[in-house]
Amino acid sequence: MVTTEVVNPATEKVVATVELADLAATDAAVDRAVRASESWRAMAPGDRARLLRRFAEAVDADLGELARLEVENSGHTLGNARWEAGNVRDVLHFAAGMPERLSGRQIPVAGGLDVTFHEPLGVVGVIVPWNFPMPIAAWGFAPALAAGNAVVLKPAELTPLTALRLAELARAAGIPDDVFQVLPGKGSVVGERFVTHPAVRKVVFTGSTEVGKRIMAGCAEQVKRVTLELGGKSANIVFADADLERAAATAPYGVFDNAGQDCCARSRILLQRSVFDRFLELFEPAVRGVQVGDPGADGTEMGPLISAAHRERVAGFVTPGEVAFTGDCPSGPGYWYPPTVVLPTSPTARVLTEEVFGPVVTVQPFEDEADALRLANDTEYGLSGSIWTNDLGRALRVSRGVAAGNLSVNSHSSVRYWTPFGGFKQSGLGRELGPDAALAFTETKNVFLATE
Ligand code: NAP
Ligand code: MG
Repeated sequence: MVTTEVVNPATEKVVATVELADLAATDAAVDRAVRASESWRAMAPGDRARLLRRFAEAVDADLGELARLEVENSGHTLGNARWEAGNVRDVLHFAAGMPERLSGRQIPVAGGLDVTFHEPLGVVGVIVPWNFPMPIAAWGFAPALAAGNAVVLKPAELTPLTALRLAELARAAGIPDDVFQVLPGKGSVVGERFVTHPAVRKVVFTGSTEVGKRIMAGCAEQVKRVTLELGGKSANIVFADADLERAAATAPYGVFDNAGQDCCARSRILLQRSVFDRFLELFEPAVRGVQVGDPGADGTEMGPLISAAHRERVAGFVTPGEVAFTGDCPSGPGYWYPPTVVLPTSPTARVLTEEVFGPVVTVQPFEDEADALRLANDTEYGLSGSIWTNDLGRALRVSRGVAAGNLSVNSHSSVRYWTPFGGFKQSGLGRELGPDAALAFTETKNVFLATE
């Protein structure tokens, strides 16, 4: 039996030992899921809805424990971890409204009746990264279950604890056995088997663009359905007419939340040249004021990075001579890295072109709207971004001009469970959340009944 030790990134202490699924265990779980999916899809939509609502209520009753586990396993601040557990509850409640609303269409034809059905796929494999273990899992499993599929879910090896807890809550809520299974394991074993196993009809993957491309290529072998949520390199565009105080005060949250381990992090600040110096004057105290430390303590705004290896990777993007200023962080134990502001000297620096996935932000000047759009779109990614301006026409023009899936004006909000979420370009494929989330876990079938 292969096991892994789960480490608290704020203390470097082992907090749990978790058994990892191997190939045989994965295959056995998929076989059970196939059988379970048959009665789940046949269940009356209202009964499936009721069970999802009970699952949501079980999550709600367990928010404190789920949050505690995420603080301990992932180093998320307690406030964030509570929001994340609450997001799972909300996503489940929203999904519970879907089974009865998955109606097809009746299309006018001559000589008969033509109707469409949205049929479940069967078994869906969900592969989750370590940065937001709870919400990212739920964005896949909740609508997939609502549409009548069984789900096998692989959490990241570093962060399996909350997913295992969610599986217990599902069971306690009455979700039938094997309809929702959590399989901790390695990406190269369990994750790859989801891609190659013919009974897994769709893979939902969130993680790096590099692995996402391999998954898409692997799924092509069986024309397997795939949803990809990959990296980002999002811009925070600040125009001279904006409320500069508010833009500067909130910019740290826009990039340093979850220690920058966020695919939506606004990791490139673009400043209109006339307010460049003024913005930095306002931004510096805001960055120095970010409270970095014990993620379980009240008032902490930023915790550690997930691992020593990841901290090393993050540090590798930072050239000391280009650092404008940093915030503070504890010295250790724990995988700490301070909020860091970089003024790059070359437009091709890796810190500008690659996803850092840590508390590092670059700052660049721009001249006018066209220049802002050129810089914002000068990336293979296209996930998110913010636009700060008080000019409504400009807000709309620039929003339409940025090639990204999730933008906010005068805000850094990225995710609402009832609106669609996903990336342009190499940030992904398909959309999660929103009113159509369940449709992504169905096939449309058309049936013509001859009346003559
Ligand atoms: P990753 O390798 O893409 O891992 C994401 C998930 O995919 C994990 O569950 C992982 O399993 C699994 N996986 C890995 N290789 C696989 C394969 N060949 N087939 C199927 N599944 C596989 O991401 P990472 O190594 O944790 O992080 C590397 C970088 O990716 C980060 O620094 C960041 O830039 C980016 N990233 C982006 C996001 C995002 O939300 N967009 C999230 C995470 C990471 P195991 O880890 O358990 O082996
Ligand atoms: Mg990896």
